[in-house]
Amino acid sequence: MKEEMDNLKKEILSQYPRLSEKDVFTFRCHKDVPCFNDCCGDVNIFLTPYDIIRLKNHLGISSQVFLQKYTLSPFDQKQKYPVILLKMTDEKKKCPFNTEDGCSVYADRPWSCRMYPLGLASPKEGAVEEEEFYFLMKEDVCKGFGEQGEQSVEGWIEGQGIKEYDEIGRLYKEITLHDFYVKGGELSPEKMEMFHLVCYNIDKFRRFLFDSTFFDKFEIADSLKEKLKTDDVELFRFGCDWIKFSIYGEKTMTIKEEVKKAKVSEIRTRSTPRE
Ligand code: SF4
Ligand code: SF4
Repeated sequence: MKEEMDNLKKEILSQYPRLSEKDVFTFRCHKDVPCFNDCCGDVNIFLTPYDIIRLKNHLGISSQVFLQKYTLSPFDQKQKYPVILLKMTDEKKKCPFNTEDGCSVYADRPWSCRMYPLGLASPKEGAVEEEEFYFLMKEDVCKGFGEQGEQSVEGWIEGQGIKEYDEIGRLYKEITLHDFYVKGGELSPEKMEMFHLVCYNIDKFRRFLFDSTFFDKFEIADSLKEKLKTDDVELFRFGCDWIKFSIYGEKTMTIKEEVKKAKVSEIRTRSTPRE
Protein backbone atom coordinates (compact mmCIF):
# COMPACT_ATOMS: atom_id res chain seq x y z
CA MET A 1 0.00 0.00 0.00
CA LYS A 2 2.78 2.45 0.97
CA GLU A 3 4.70 1.69 -2.23
CA GLU A 4 1.55 2.19 -4.32
CA MET A 5 0.91 5.55 -2.64
CA ASP A 6 4.54 6.64 -3.05
CA ASN A 7 4.43 5.83 -6.79
CA LEU A 8 1.19 7.76 -7.23
CA LYS A 9 2.69 10.71 -5.41
CA LYS A 10 5.74 10.65 -7.68
CA GLU A 11 3.47 10.64 -10.74
CA ILE A 12 1.40 13.55 -9.40
CA LEU A 13 4.48 15.62 -8.58
CA SER A 14 6.14 15.04 -11.94
CA GLN A 15 3.20 14.96 -14.38
CA TYR A 16 0.04 16.61 -13.05
CA PRO A 17 -0.54 20.30 -13.78
CA ARG A 18 -0.50 22.30 -10.53
CA LEU A 19 -3.52 24.46 -9.77
CA SER A 20 -3.81 27.47 -7.47
CA GLU A 21 -7.01 28.58 -5.73
CA LYS A 22 -7.72 31.08 -8.52
CA ASP A 23 -7.50 28.51 -11.35
CA VAL A 24 -10.72 27.35 -13.00
CA PHE A 25 -11.81 23.93 -14.24
CA THR A 26 -14.85 22.51 -16.02
CA PHE A 27 -16.68 19.82 -14.09
CA ARG A 28 -20.19 19.03 -12.88
CA CYS A 29 -21.56 15.99 -11.09
CA HIS A 30 -25.30 15.33 -10.91
CA LYS A 31 -27.76 12.45 -10.76
CA ASP A 32 -28.17 12.18 -14.54
CA VAL A 33 -24.53 11.63 -15.47
CA PRO A 34 -24.11 8.10 -16.95
CA CYS A 35 -21.41 7.35 -14.37
CA PHE A 36 -23.56 8.30 -11.36
CA ASN A 37 -22.32 6.35 -8.30
CA ASP A 38 -19.49 4.67 -10.25
CA CYS A 39 -16.86 6.53 -8.23
CA CYS A 40 -18.25 5.31 -4.89
CA GLY A 41 -16.79 1.83 -5.10
CA ASP A 42 -13.50 -0.05 -5.20
CA VAL A 43 -11.64 3.00 -4.01
CA ASN A 44 -9.14 3.75 -1.24
CA ILE A 45 -10.62 6.43 0.99
CA PHE A 46 -8.32 7.35 3.87
CA LEU A 47 -10.30 8.76 6.77
CA THR A 48 -9.07 11.70 8.82
CA PRO A 49 -9.91 12.10 12.53
CA TYR A 50 -12.53 14.72 11.64
CA ASP A 51 -14.06 12.42 8.97
CA ILE A 52 -14.55 9.77 11.67
CA ILE A 53 -16.03 12.25 14.15
CA ARG A 54 -18.53 13.52 11.55
CA LEU A 55 -19.47 10.06 10.28
CA LYS A 56 -19.87 8.32 13.65
CA ASN A 57 -21.98 11.24 14.93
CA HIS A 58 -24.06 11.18 11.74
CA LEU A 59 -24.71 7.48 12.30
CA GLY A 60 -25.25 7.93 16.05
CA ILE A 61 -22.68 5.29 17.01
CA SER A 62 -19.44 5.32 18.99
CA SER A 63 -16.06 5.66 17.32
CA GLN A 64 -15.27 2.09 18.46
CA VAL A 65 -18.33 0.66 16.68
CA PHE A 66 -17.67 2.82 13.63
CA LEU A 67 -14.10 1.55 13.36
CA GLN A 68 -15.17 -2.07 13.75
CA LYS A 69 -18.03 -1.88 11.28
CA TYR A 70 -16.86 0.44 8.54
CA THR A 71 -13.09 0.61 8.44
CA LEU A 72 -9.84 -1.22 7.85
CA SER A 73 -6.53 -0.42 9.46
CA PRO A 74 -3.92 -1.55 6.92
CA PHE A 75 -0.51 -2.27 8.35
CA ASP A 76 2.75 -1.91 6.53
CA GLN A 77 6.22 -2.27 8.08
CA LYS A 78 7.27 1.05 6.55
CA GLN A 79 4.25 2.88 7.95
CA LYS A 80 5.13 5.74 10.31
CA TYR A 81 1.76 6.06 12.05
CA PRO A 82 -1.59 4.21 11.88
CA VAL A 83 -4.01 5.06 9.07
CA ILE A 84 -7.68 4.17 8.56
CA LEU A 85 -9.43 3.22 5.33
CA LEU A 86 -13.15 3.12 4.64
CA LYS A 87 -14.04 -0.56 4.14
CA MET A 88 -15.82 -1.38 0.88
CA THR A 89 -18.61 -4.00 1.02
CA ASP A 90 -17.43 -7.57 0.48
CA GLU A 91 -19.67 -8.46 -2.47
CA LYS A 92 -19.67 -5.48 -4.79
CA LYS A 93 -16.75 -3.49 -3.37
CA LYS A 94 -19.07 -0.52 -2.91
CA CYS A 95 -18.80 2.16 -0.28
CA PRO A 96 -21.09 1.08 2.61
CA PHE A 97 -22.84 4.46 2.43
CA ASN A 98 -23.61 4.32 -1.28
CA THR A 99 -27.26 3.90 -2.26
CA GLU A 100 -29.15 4.07 -5.56
CA ASP A 101 -29.89 7.71 -4.76
CA GLY A 102 -26.29 8.54 -4.04
CA CYS A 103 -24.46 9.14 -0.78
CA SER A 104 -26.51 8.36 2.34
CA VAL A 105 -24.13 10.37 4.57
CA TYR A 106 -23.79 13.30 2.15
CA ALA A 107 -23.92 16.07 4.80
CA ASP A 108 -21.03 14.39 6.63
CA ARG A 109 -19.17 12.73 3.76
CA PRO A 110 -15.38 12.44 4.13
CA TRP A 111 -12.89 15.11 3.08
CA SER A 112 -11.68 13.20 0.01
CA CYS A 113 -15.27 12.69 -1.27
CA ARG A 114 -15.83 16.45 -0.95
CA MET A 115 -12.58 17.26 -2.71
CA TYR A 116 -13.06 14.96 -5.71
CA PRO A 117 -12.14 15.63 -8.54
CA LEU A 118 -9.59 17.88 -6.85
CA GLY A 119 -6.56 16.49 -5.09
CA LEU A 120 -4.07 18.21 -2.81
CA ALA A 121 -0.37 17.40 -2.72
CA SER A 122 2.80 18.71 -1.13
CA PRO A 123 6.16 18.54 -2.87
CA LYS A 124 8.00 17.06 0.11
CA GLU A 125 7.34 15.45 3.44
CA GLY A 126 6.88 17.96 6.23
CA ALA A 127 6.19 20.71 3.67
CA VAL A 128 4.59 23.91 4.90
CA GLU A 129 1.10 24.68 3.64
CA GLU A 130 2.27 27.39 1.25
CA GLU A 131 4.04 24.69 -0.76
CA GLU A 132 0.92 22.60 -1.26
CA PHE A 133 -0.87 22.61 -4.60
CA TYR A 134 -4.14 21.35 -6.05
CA PHE A 135 -4.44 19.06 -9.06
CA LEU A 136 -7.26 17.44 -11.02
CA MET A 137 -7.78 13.68 -10.86
CA LYS A 138 -9.06 13.00 -14.36
CA GLU A 139 -10.21 9.38 -14.39
CA ASP A 140 -11.80 7.62 -17.38
CA VAL A 141 -14.75 6.51 -15.27
CA CYS A 142 -15.75 10.10 -14.48
CA LYS A 143 -17.87 11.83 -17.11
CA GLY A 144 -18.27 14.99 -15.01
CA PHE A 145 -15.49 16.66 -17.00
CA GLY A 146 -17.70 16.55 -20.10
CA GLU A 147 -20.52 18.45 -18.36
CA GLN A 148 -21.04 22.20 -18.56
CA GLY A 149 -19.98 23.97 -15.39
CA GLU A 150 -16.94 26.13 -14.84
CA GLN A 151 -15.69 26.94 -11.39
CA SER A 152 -12.61 28.10 -9.57
CA VAL A 153 -10.71 25.89 -7.18
CA GLU A 154 -11.57 28.25 -4.30
CA GLY A 155 -15.27 28.18 -5.32
CA TRP A 156 -15.22 24.38 -5.19
CA ILE A 157 -13.53 24.37 -1.76
CA GLU A 158 -16.14 26.82 -0.45
CA GLY A 159 -19.13 25.04 -2.00
CA GLN A 160 -18.15 21.59 -0.74
CA GLY A 161 -17.71 22.73 2.87
CA ILE A 162 -14.04 21.79 2.84
CA LYS A 163 -12.77 24.76 4.89
CA GLU A 164 -14.13 23.38 8.16
CA TYR A 165 -12.46 20.04 7.43
CA ASP A 166 -9.19 21.78 6.58
CA GLU A 167 -9.17 23.80 9.80
CA ILE A 168 -9.28 20.64 11.89
CA GLY A 169 -7.17 18.80 9.31
CA ARG A 170 -4.37 21.27 10.05
CA LEU A 171 -4.04 19.77 13.56
CA TYR A 172 -3.77 16.29 12.03
CA LYS A 173 -1.10 17.51 9.62
CA GLU A 174 0.88 19.00 12.50
CA ILE A 175 1.17 15.60 14.11
CA THR A 176 1.54 13.46 10.97
CA LEU A 177 4.08 15.73 9.26
CA HIS A 178 5.99 16.30 12.50
CA ASP A 179 9.74 16.82 12.58
CA PHE A 180 9.95 13.66 14.71
CA TYR A 181 9.43 11.59 11.51
CA VAL A 182 11.57 13.85 9.32
CA LYS A 183 14.44 13.17 11.76
CA GLY A 184 13.87 9.42 11.51
CA GLY A 185 11.81 8.92 14.70
CA GLU A 186 9.78 5.70 14.97
CA LEU A 187 6.72 4.96 17.09
CA SER A 188 6.87 2.03 19.51
CA PRO A 189 3.78 -0.27 19.48
CA GLU A 190 2.48 1.54 22.62
CA LYS A 191 2.85 4.94 20.97
CA MET A 192 1.20 3.64 17.80
CA GLU A 193 -1.71 2.60 20.01
CA MET A 194 -1.91 6.02 21.67
CA PHE A 195 -1.82 7.74 18.26
CA HIS A 196 -4.64 5.49 17.06
CA LEU A 197 -6.69 6.17 20.19
CA VAL A 198 -6.47 9.96 19.94
CA CYS A 199 -6.87 10.25 16.18
CA TYR A 200 -9.48 7.63 15.40
CA ASN A 201 -11.13 6.26 18.54
CA ILE A 202 -12.12 9.54 20.16
CA ASP A 203 -14.83 8.10 22.43
CA LYS A 204 -12.38 5.56 23.86
CA PHE A 205 -9.80 8.35 24.30
CA ARG A 206 -12.42 10.23 26.35
CA ARG A 207 -12.83 7.19 28.59
CA PHE A 208 -9.04 6.89 28.87
CA LEU A 209 -8.95 10.46 30.26
CA PHE A 210 -11.99 10.41 32.49
CA ASP A 211 -11.72 6.86 33.85
CA SER A 212 -8.10 7.26 34.93
CA THR A 213 -6.07 9.55 37.19
CA PHE A 214 -5.12 11.70 34.17
CA PHE A 215 -6.69 14.93 35.48
CA ASP A 216 -5.01 14.47 38.87
CA LYS A 217 -1.64 14.70 37.15
CA PHE A 218 -1.96 17.63 34.74
CA GLU A 219 -2.96 21.29 35.06
CA ILE A 220 -6.22 21.43 33.08
CA ALA A 221 -8.75 24.25 33.51
CA ASP A 222 -12.14 23.10 34.81
CA SER A 223 -13.89 24.81 31.88
CA LEU A 224 -11.80 22.81 29.39
CA LYS A 225 -12.36 19.58 31.34
CA GLU A 226 -16.10 20.21 31.14
CA LYS A 227 -15.94 20.78 27.37
CA LEU A 228 -13.94 17.60 26.83
CA LYS A 229 -16.84 15.58 28.23
CA THR A 230 -19.01 16.27 25.18
CA ASP A 231 -17.11 18.17 22.47
CA ASP A 232 -15.32 15.73 20.13
CA VAL A 233 -13.44 18.42 18.20
CA GLU A 234 -12.17 20.05 21.40
CA LEU A 235 -11.17 16.59 22.61
CA PHE A 236 -9.23 15.92 19.41
CA ARG A 237 -7.53 19.33 19.75
CA PHE A 238 -6.55 18.36 23.31
CA GLY A 239 -5.45 14.92 22.08
CA CYS A 240 -3.06 16.52 19.60
CA ASP A 241 -1.40 18.39 22.47
CA TRP A 242 -1.22 15.11 24.36
CA ILE A 243 0.47 13.40 21.37
CA LYS A 244 2.95 16.26 21.09
CA PHE A 245 3.71 15.95 24.82
CA SER A 246 3.72 12.18 25.28
CA ILE A 247 5.14 11.10 21.91
CA TYR A 248 7.15 14.02 20.52
CA GLY A 249 8.37 15.41 23.89
CA GLU A 250 7.00 18.95 23.42
CA LYS A 251 6.00 21.10 26.41
CA THR A 252 2.34 21.28 25.45
CA MET A 253 1.05 20.13 28.85
CA THR A 254 1.92 21.05 32.44
CA ILE A 255 2.37 18.44 35.14
CA LYS A 256 0.95 19.51 38.52
CA GLU A 257 3.55 20.75 41.06
CA GLU A 258 2.48 18.26 43.73
CA VAL A 259 2.88 15.38 41.23
CA LYS A 260 6.39 16.57 40.34
CA LYS A 261 7.32 16.87 44.05
CA ALA A 262 5.95 13.41 44.82
CA LYS A 263 7.97 11.97 41.93
CA VAL A 264 11.20 13.65 43.11
CA SER A 265 10.67 12.39 46.65
CA GLU A 266 9.96 8.87 45.35
CA ILE A 267 13.22 8.89 43.34
CA ARG A 268 15.15 10.15 46.39
CA THR A 269 13.70 7.43 48.60
CA ARG A 270 14.61 4.79 46.03
CA SER A 271 18.17 6.04 45.63
CA THR A 272 18.90 6.45 49.37
CA PRO A 273 21.10 3.51 50.45
CA ARG A 274 19.62 1.42 53.24
CA GLU A 275 21.63 1.03 56.49
S1 SF4 B 1 -19.00 8.40 1.59
FE1 SF4 B 1 -20.58 8.96 0.14
S2 SF4 B 1 -19.51 10.15 -1.43
FE2 SF4 B 1 -17.97 9.03 -0.27
S3 SF4 B 1 -17.61 7.14 -1.41
FE3 SF4 B 1 -19.18 6.72 0.14
S4 SF4 B 1 -21.13 7.05 -0.86
FE4 SF4 B 1 -19.55 8.01 -2.12
S1 SF4 C 1 -17.74 9.50 -11.59
FE1 SF4 C 1 -17.58 11.75 -11.57
S2 SF4 C 1 -19.41 12.54 -12.57
FE2 SF4 C 1 -19.74 10.37 -12.16
S3 SF4 C 1 -20.82 10.38 -10.20
FE3 SF4 C 1 -18.67 10.21 -9.71
S4 SF4 C 1 -17.92 12.30 -9.45
FE4 SF4 C 1 -19.91 12.41 -10.45
